[in-house]
Amino acid sequence: MRVPLIAGNWKMFKTKAEARAFAEEFKELYKDTDIRAAICAPFTDLDLLVETFKDTNIMVGAQNVHFADEGAYTGEISMAMLEEIGVDLCIVGHSERRQYFGETDETCNLKLKKLLQGSITPILCVGESLEERDAGRAEDIVKGQIKADLEGIPAEDAKKMVIAYEPIWAIGTGRTATPEQAEEMCAVIRKSIEELYNEDVADEVIIQYGGSVKPGNATEIMNQPEIDGALVGGASLKAKDFIEIINF
Ligand code: 13P
Repeated sequence: MRVPLIAGNWKMFKTKAEARAFAEEFKELYKDTDIRAAICAPFTDLDLLVETFKDTNIMVGAQNVHFADEGAYTGEISMAMLEEIGVDLCIVGHSERRQYFGETDETCNLKLKKLLQGSITPILCVGESLEERDAGRAEDIVKGQIKADLEGIPAEDAKKMVIAYEPIWAIGTGRTATPEQAEEMCAVIRKSIEELYNEDVADEVIIQYGGSVKPGNATEIMNQPEIDGALVGGASLKAKDFIEIINF
């Protein structure tokens, strides 16, 4: 039985003072909610969020991790550093990291393998560009990412993952994929997992949709049978909007 998970991705927003104000408001709003929720925040906000949410079911995620245990990698953060803070989740391969920071399927694969050795659940992001969709290549692109990113990852680890389908053309554009388009690709992802592993793994993996999810469209997206949650950018920055999505 898959338990839905709605996660916010704050990207490079919120200073510690802003994160504190959000967390206090959100904790109150979330009190009577039983849907699983998470905030993936900048590194500098993580300890504060873990502390503020410690007696709640609200999970905290990072947005990136390095795949090495430690070393001369200026500006990077290791899994042990995240584990020590008590982080539950970590985004891997967001399209913004693939586009602006040279993240490749190969580095995503190494990061997934590293996280799956420890206690942090990866949220792997996949998705096609508008050009790729218009050329009729969306399915092939997403299937290719799944195959390459999961290369060499055993079934018992793959089961624990969250996968977010985020079509690049729907991110921050206000142009949401239709529920049918989102459902169709989430089904393709689940089928790819079944082909790479088996039905059991495919049944367990949480698949989210991300791209301009907001209070007004969360219900129709969350009502799709293959969609187990959402990865929410802009609308997760305001506690009132984010709680409305969670209570879809
Ligand atoms: P928006 O919800 O702002 O479109 O961002 C989606 C996203 O990239 C979440 O990771």
